[in-house]
Amino acid sequence: MAYLDHNATSPLRASARAALEATLGECGNASSVHGAGRAARARVEEAREQVAQLAGARPSSVVFTSGGTEANAMALRGAIAGALAEEDRITRLFVSAIEHESVRANAAALAETVPGLKLNTIAVTRDGVVDLASFRLALMQGKGRALVSVMAANNETGVVQDIEAIAQMVRTEGGEGALLHVDAVQAAGRVAFSFAGSGADYATVSAHKLGGPQGAGALLVKDGTPFAPMMAGGGQEMGRRSGTENVAAIAGFGAAAQEAAAFADGMAQIGALRNRFEAELKRIAPEAVVFGENAVRLPNTSNFAIPGLAAETALIALDLEGVAVSSGSACSSGKVKPSHVLIAMGADEALARSGLRISLGWTSREEDVDAAIAALRTLMARRSGLRAA
Ligand code: PLP
Repeated sequence: MAYLDHNATSPLRASARAALEATLGECGNASSVHGAGRAARARVEEAREQVAQLAGARPSSVVFTSGGTEANAMALRGAIAGALAEEDRITRLFVSAIEHESVRANAAALAETVPGLKLNTIAVTRDGVVDLASFRLALMQGKGRALVSVMAANNETGVVQDIEAIAQMVRTEGGEGALLHVDAVQAAGRVAFSFAGSGADYATVSAHKLGGPQGAGALLVKDGTPFAPMMAGGGQEMGRRSGTENVAAIAGFGAAAQEAAAFADGMAQIGALRNRFEAELKRIAPEAVVFGENAVRLPNTSNFAIPGLAAETALIALDLEGVAVSSGSACSSGKVKPSHVLIAMGADEALARSGLRISLGWTSREEDVDAAIAALRTLMARRSGLRAA
């Protein structure tokens, strides 16, 4: 199979599998005082160092979670509740129009339940980049402490945001004590991302997008930033996330993070493969539209539409040829709704319904891209044959 869906999930790396298997064979609660417990704790702390290293963060910033979704929910809810506890409440929540559902849905739920909290959507340009001028204006127009959530790279299009510029704007225009959360799930391990250097207060990473196991992730929380835990319990993770640590998954996450950090150079080759795919695509279908083409993008992602070709039809045809791609984001596959990301970028509904994504990763080879191109060529030939008949 040509697996071209790394943004949905990336295959487990050998080092992550080895760490998982080794840890599953051990017994120990990382909070126990005896030797077995201390061994489990050592696994967790090693992984904390590895994840911190990948994300350019201090190990003390890393809070292990069950994945990106939990970390995103925890960031928004934890910041708002934490600020409230400090009696310096957040009254404005800004979320970009292209965020992952785990940010959008939590932001909407918070706006409905937290008295006095106003939700604002940050617009993006046709290339999927945060519209900095209108964002600045929106920040300046209101009053009160702001919490802003913007992703480092989009899961559907791969478009990368200028987080440092956004952080600067949040500081200067977001009111006293304004805070920034960055969803770095797709960026970590694919492009340089430094939590410490970014100016963000919170950032989210997820293990399975970089070759670790599914169901593990982390929220990075800057020291001294407002944060209240979502769940009461045993007070693990320095009181920030209660619940016995999933030691095996965390160890696998750590190993994958270490390997992904070293893999950054391989991304140049992946970028070349992606570019070759897009060049061939335009030969096969000159009318094809590549979303975010003029923006800085992750080197591994291509989201395109061939007008008139429904994404679901193409996806099934490619699957029959042994090529795994995605339409929209995996989480919204199966829903009939067109992608909110493509709509926010100004695509009309029909074009958005044609959006297909290929996303490469550490397993990707030239043959995978060749297979995708061949399958598309067959599909387009069949289509024009049907039209002619
Ligand atoms: N944020 C982004 C940008 C994602 O792409 C995803 C997964 O698709 C998530 C968050 C959710 O992460 P997880 O699958 O670990 O819950």
